[in-house]
Amino acid sequence: MSGAAKPGEFELISRFFAPLCRAEAGAFGLTDDGAVLSHEPGKNTVVTMDCLVAGVHFPESEPPEQIAWRLLAVNLSDLAAMGATPQAYTLALALPHNWDAAWMAAFADGLKQAQDEFSITLIGGDTVATPGPLTLSLTALGRIDAGQELRRNEAKAGDVIYVSGTIGDAALGLKVLKGELDGLDSEHEAFLLDRYHRPRPRVNLGLRLGGIANAAIDISDGLAADLAHLAEASAVACVLEADQVPLSAAAREAIAEDSLNLTLALSGGDDYELLFSAPPSLGAAIKALSEELALPLTPVGKIANDTNAGQVMVRDANGREILLAESGYRHF
Ligand code: ADP
Ligand code: MG
Repeated sequence: MSGAAKPGEFELISRFFAPLCRAEAGAFGLTDDGAVLSHEPGKNTVVTMDCLVAGVHFPESEPPEQIAWRLLAVNLSDLAAMGATPQAYTLALALPHNWDAAWMAAFADGLKQAQDEFSITLIGGDTVATPGPLTLSLTALGRIDAGQELRRNEAKAGDVIYVSGTIGDAALGLKVLKGELDGLDSEHEAFLLDRYHRPRPRVNLGLRLGGIANAAIDISDGLAADLAHLAEASAVACVLEADQVPLSAAAREAIAEDSLNLTLALSGGDDYELLFSAPPSLGAAIKALSEELALPLTPVGKIANDTNAGQVMVRDANGREILLAESGYRHF
């Protein structure tokens, strides 16, 4: 953000944000005090919110399109983990003094790209100035058939634990970005950076997990930490087989260079894949779904029968326990 022309508050809203709300007539072109959404019988609304602070959740220098994409994507990932269809979102912006029209145009463009990809529309928000860092907050609404919500708390003993996609790429990408992981093949490096910069929430998968998954969560804090959240909520213990965890070719190269990168992959955040548990009898259905969505769905462990509720045991190929030094991002 720097210099250049800066529109006033109302011009900012009409120029950059009103074009993003056209899909919802009830947003009134962002000209009223609130939006009005109609309610379909038999449907529930899922509500989720995430707040991102520059210098904490993304680097200050991150391009505005990427910040916008991330902001929407992290919320869409929560809707996916609940099994909901994206519907609409509101946006709060706390802007430091140094933004300009070019920055805002790029930010709005990033929102538009994510809106178009995931069929969600802006319906309102608030815009303020702040003496602190750029702070963005987004509330997303999704629709789901009443009673079909995917919860964290219904994993059952004997369930197989699955993850979508590949794990650890975003944490390794952040390491590349910080200049702490070099010497990788340049295509691998670009792949890891993209996985960090452009999380792809598994919305289509979430929509298909109703009737399959007993419990689901999205992987934002890290595989080990989010599995622990699921285990705690479900009051079960579980075993994670580290050698079964799906890794990209790029992640495998990083791990071959330094085996500590495996620990990072298992505990690092920002992948925005889905983690779910399902009865073993549904293995064939899950394989078929994986093929249909062209998205790997890989069994990585089991919900255990014992009583150590909330415990996650991570094992290597020889059945030896791996202790993860840091398990997941903590805000405080
Ligand atoms: P009010 O004073 O009634 O709270 P505002 O002046 O804050 O309204 O906002 C005017 C309109 O612009 C409202 O419809 C509000 O939802 C919308 N709006 C303000 N900021 C944003 C934003 N960052 N993104 C989307 N809509 C916004
Ligand atoms: Mg008002």
